[in-house]
Amino acid sequence: MKSYKKELWFETRSRRELVNITPDVNVCLQESGIREGLLLCNAMHITASVFINDDESGLHHDYEVWLEKLAPEKPHSQYRHNGFEDNADAHMKRQIMGREVVVAITEGKLDFGPWEQIFYGEFDGNRRKRVLVKIIGE
Ligand code: ZN
Repeated sequence: MKSYKKELWFETRSRRELVNITPDVNVCLQESGIREGLLLCNAMHITASVFINDDESGLHHDYEVWLEKLAPEKPHSQYRHNGFEDNADAHMKRQIMGREVVVAITEGKLDFGPWEQIFYGEFDGNRRKRVLVKIIGE
């Protein structure tokens, strides 16, 4: 069995941003040489997500509105977590959007359903943060 690991780094210019990382993950898959197996991709921070969905700008706007309804960023004082930090909302947004995805590797490709793309969901940005890609198989 082969094993491959790589960290991808991101620094968004806004507090919240969704980044399509499918091309980066595909580069990892090509580098690994693995043709049959499983790929795990997870955020290494508790205020960011990795999830799979459609790369459609209307939907991404809808996510922003929906997440702000569920866990509004402001006022910061509404959260007990916000003492030394102001990112309680980001922890909650990450919880809803998930920590990781697992994708089957079939014949050297990410075995996606229709329109599936992998996203990095940043909820407390403006600093360097990373995503882990781990691939096992043969
Ligand atoms: Zn925090």
